[in-house]
This record gives sequence, structure tokens and C-alpha cells, in this order.
Amino acid sequence: MMLLDGKKLAQEIKEDLKIRVANMANNGVETSLAVVLVGDNPASHTYVNMKEKDCHDLGIRSLRYDLPADTDEATLLGLIDQLNADEGVHGILVQLPLPKHLDEQKVIRAIDPAKDVDCFTPVNVGLLATGKPVFAPCTPAGIVRLIKANGLEIAGKDVVIVNRSNIVGKPLMHLMLMENATVTIAHSRTADLKEVCKRADILVAAVGRKEMFDESYVKPGAVVIDVGVNRTPEGKLAGDVAFDKVAPIASAITPCVGGVGPMTRAILMENTVRAAENR
Ligand code: NDP
Repeated sequence: MMLLDGKKLAQEIKEDLKIRVANMANNGVETSLAVVLVGDNPASHTYVNMKEKDCHDLGIRSLRYDLPADTDEATLLGLIDQLNADEGVHGILVQLPLPKHLDEQKVIRAIDPAKDVDCFTPVNVGLLATGKPVFAPCTPAGIVRLIKANGLEIAGKDVVIVNRSNIVGKPLMHLMLMENATVTIAHSRTADLKEVCKRADILVAAVGRKEMFDESYVKPGAVVIDVGVNRTPEGKLAGDVAFDKVAPIASAITPCVGGVGPMTRAILMENTVRAAENR
């Protein structure tokens, strides 16, 4: 069984990015990422702190905007307009989820596609769907990179993705099609989920249910990618895959911690550097 070490690969990607950031600095361009956080969702705060740390590690200037939970739409859209117009800002990221009273899609639509390092705007989603993305969607691209960097084949494989969200499942479907996989998307209304999963050469579990995927969902020899992030009652992190049960039959598997998460962060940094280079 091969352990797909996202932490190690993310570090390699970051070492390369450090050089690109330094090269731009030599040309007088300070790469910068604006991160907008509305409200006090603890998980969102943790994610934003990690993104700030990544920027710091790479020499990217991070501009953080902490807005109160009751921020109105006009204020948030005004801030995005200001960041769009600012030549010194290369990437803009609005941390999701937003408080319920804000229209997430409307806010995303306001971001300049050239600065949309999450690849969430309709323009960038459309470019992805036509097979010509400018930015790679972070989690999906991290997954594909991790599989390929470990020398595993995607072309011709049956890929089953259990997730149909705009952040994970749908963009991953496009990337997997670009890699010539045969893709199935499963979700909460899929009939006979176990049987569908058991057909997978590459199984991507992204449901958000602690250790739901045990060996009964996995074909022996499959590559298993665990995207889910769950908290145990003791406050520890757990994936969607029951690692100890699945690892013995998988040909390759990501750890719950140090697998997909660090890759997502590395691709965000790569997109930010690309946004700066594209200017
Ligand atoms: P969503 O809640 O938007 O999506 C969950 C998906 O799982 C939906 O498509 C849902 O189906 C499906 N689902 C839920 N329950 C079942 C079930 N019992 N059987 C089959 N399918 C089911 O979450 P996200 O896409 O935002 O995130 C998914 C998970 O991945 C979360 O745990 C999140 O924390 C994690 N994550 C991790 C990242 C990382 O970098 N490691 C990045 C992004 C997310 P339906 O559409 O029918 O409701």
C-alpha cells in the first residue's frame, strides 16, 4: 500500500513557489493575496490563519479583512470592488461559508475573475467546464496533482466521486475528464452507493461523515482519496475513510491529516503566484 503524502508534496510545491515569488520581487512586484472573512465561524478562522501562514512562508503579502457577522451586502461588495481595482492585490479570496443573510453566489460573482484564485466565479467555472481553466480549483487540483505525482494512472480509470458540491465534486469531475478518466458523481440520493463505490479504481470520499467509508465500499487495489474533515467528540480530526480498515486493501490511500488538506493550501498559493505572474 502506498501512502499518498500530501504534506511532503505540498512542501515541494511551496519551495518552487518561493523562487517564483522571489523572482517577481526582483522585478518589483510584491505578490499579494487579500483574504476576506465575515463573522466568527471557528473553522473559517482556522483556515484563514493557515492561509496567512502559507503566504508568510512564501513571501507573499497577505491582506486580511475581518468583517463582523452582521456586515451588510453593500459593504462587502464595496470592499470587493475596492480590491478588484487595487493593482497591488493579485488574488482575492472570500472565505466560505458566509453568514446566511449574504448571497454567496452574488458575492462570488463580484470578484474579478483574474483575481479569483479559488476558481469560483462563473467565468472561471465556465473555462474549467470547457477544459481551458485559467485557475485550478484548489482541492480538486490538489487531488489530481497528488495522484499523478505518485506515478498513478488516471486515464481510462473509473473514478467515483462521492460529492456534488461546487467546491469539490463538480470541479473535480471536470479535471478528471481532462485526465481522460471515466467519471461517476455520487451523492446523498445515489441508489446503492456501496455498489457504485466498489466499481471505482479511484474513489474520492468527500461527504463529511466520520469514517463512513470502510472496506465494504472499496474494490481491492483501488486508490482511495479522503477529502472529508470531521471532528471526533474528543476534538480530534477524522476523515470520511476508516483508514485502518481500508488501507490493507487499497493500492494507495491518503492519510486523513497530511493528505488532501495541505495540497489544497499549496494550490491556492500556486494560483496566487499565477495571478501575480499573469498581470
Ligand atoms: P457539502 O456538504 O457541500 O457536500 C457534501 C456532499 O456529500 C454532497 O454532495 C452530499 O450529497 C454528499 N453526501 C452527504 N451525505 C451523504 C451520504 N450519506 N451518502 C452519499 N453522499 C452524501 O460539503 P463540501 O463539498 O464543502 O465538503 C465535503 C467534505 O470535504 C467536508 O467534510 C469538508 O470539510 C471537506 N473538505 C475538505 C477540504 C480539504 O482541503 N481537505 C476542502 C473542502 C472540503 P447531496 O448533494 O445530495 O446533499
